[in-house]
Amino acid sequence: MREHLKFLNPNLSCDRKASAPSAVFRLENKTGRENTVQSLEELAIDHVRKPLVLAHNECENSDMELPSPEICYRALESRDSRLDGLMFVGVASTGIYCRPICPARTPKFEHCKFFASAAAAQDAGFRPCLRCRPETAPDLASWHGTSNTVSRALALIAEGALDGDGNSVEKLAARLGVGERQLRRLFLQHLGAAPISVAQTRRVLFAKQLIHETQMPMTEVAMAAGFGSLRRFNETFLNLFQRPPSALRRKNSRKLKEHDVQLRLRYRPPYDWDCMLAFLQARAVPGVEMVNGGRYIRTVEIGGTMGSIEVSHLIDQQSLGVKIRFPDVRLLPAIVARVRRLFDLGADIETIDRHLSADPVLAPLVARRPGLRAPGGWDGFEIAVRAVLGQQISVAAARGLAGQLIALHGHSVPKSFRMHPDLSRVFPTANRLASVSSMGLRIPITRLRALKAVAEAALADPNLFRPFGSIEQTVARLRTIHGIGEWTAQYIALRAVREMDAFPSTDIGLLRGVASINGNATSAANLLSRAESWRPWRAYAAQHLWAADGSAICKPTTHAASNVG
Ligand SMILES: [Zn+2]
Repeated sequence: MREHLKFLNPNLSCDRKASAPSAVFRLENKTGRENTVQSLEELAIDHVRKPLVLAHNECENSDMELPSPEICYRALESRDSRLDGLMFVGVASTGIYCRPICPARTPKFEHCKFFASAAAAQDAGFRPCLRCRPETAPDLASWHGTSNTVSRALALIAEGALDGDGNSVEKLAARLGVGERQLRRLFLQHLGAAPISVAQTRRVLFAKQLIHETQMPMTEVAMAAGFGSLRRFNETFLNLFQRPPSALRRKNSRKLKEHDVQLRLRYRPPYDWDCMLAFLQARAVPGVEMVNGGRYIRTVEIGGTMGSIEVSHLIDQQSLGVKIRFPDVRLLPAIVARVRRLFDLGADIETIDRHLSADPVLAPLVARRPGLRAPGGWDGFEIAVRAVLGQQISVAAARGLAGQLIALHGHSVPKSFRMHPDLSRVFPTANRLASVSSMGLRIPITRLRALKAVAEAALADPNLFRPFGSIEQTVARLRTIHGIGEWTAQYIALRAVREMDAFPSTDIGLLRGVASINGNATSAANLLSRAESWRPWRAYAAQHLWAADGSAICKPTTHAASNVG
């Protein structure tokens, strides 16, 4: 944590008086002729293009968390991928913003303005580069800066928390347990853009990705990206790119089976794909998910609509390839957000690994498995049910019970939306499990009651598995559910809520993991106090300890030490 703070320059400032009158902006018109604009006033009456750079020198972004302009520029000159996703550069002479790795010729320093987010660059009037494609930069939403609140807000925005009429920044702030003004201030501080701008930029960039990487008709792209109408979509693109959306489509976009949408989701390397797959394979619920030929395939359900996804590793492109077969394109952003969460694509893994390596116990583990991620879950309720089923039994036994639950209560996926003949059912919803008269599982009565209680709680509160307040508050709220003890609550917080500081310290696999390193058995209390220095990334420390438990790589763990409250 401290490491990257040293790297940031808190004294970044801009001086409107000094920069405005002397600034020279060049704008290219459509014939390629250069217009030299001597002042902001001139710029405002320029007819060639909207006054792109008007907001450019305003001071609203002055607190943005970024390295100094000189460091940013050096990163740009060397096309340094370490800042990819953390820094964007707006080029005043072209009105375009780029990733630091853009292959285009490096612009002059005096034309560069650096931003901590794509939204801030777009807010300042810059439009996305068609060569380096800012929409494909690694999405570091879960890391951004030092603010947990911002990370959590970004996760919710990615799922559509600011899309549609019924949603607002005020509601978003309430869900996060902060005031609306505080949330706006945090966004300006960390991202240099307001929450609404971030949501709008996400929509534009997601639409652009769909245009580039799929053959979806434009009406569907507009719908999928959350634009209210095709007209709004066209207008936005004309404003931003000076051309209709269809003009951005490449001729060689892949043509897939009719329903399929295939996208690339970039991550920040390294990424330990083998461990991720091994973890998911050990827990794969029969009928719902499987690992097959190095790919993860599963059935998915959102709001009663069912389909399938397949995820593979595109190692050369530092991306995961996601194939989606789903009947409703409007749910694509939600599907993509869930895939990102499941595969932990938002992690700034270099920073996390560096932090954990400072501990002598963890250092050799991180060296052995650089880029180890903390797997999330497809759905919060599903993870919670699986956590309860796994209380005090082995991973394999829990997997068997989950399979029975699917066979008894999982709805059947329409044939045309399946990707594998063995994956034909979805995980049952909270509604379904709350209403069945009998679960049909031979497990202790306390566990059956806990399952019922989880289903009822999820039904009563649709935000049960979303972040709310601090990690301690999240865990305390989960523990109010009958049958959810500390271990289960921490496990749910880690995998479902994505609290990256969650740490199930009583887990027997973790305790064995520590013992396997230094040969000494330790207590849960000792482990917990030891873990203080691993904050705010204790979830990754847990993942390394689980992986260290036993000789096989990422051998699945049991958690007999769970305590049922
Ligand atoms: Zn570029």
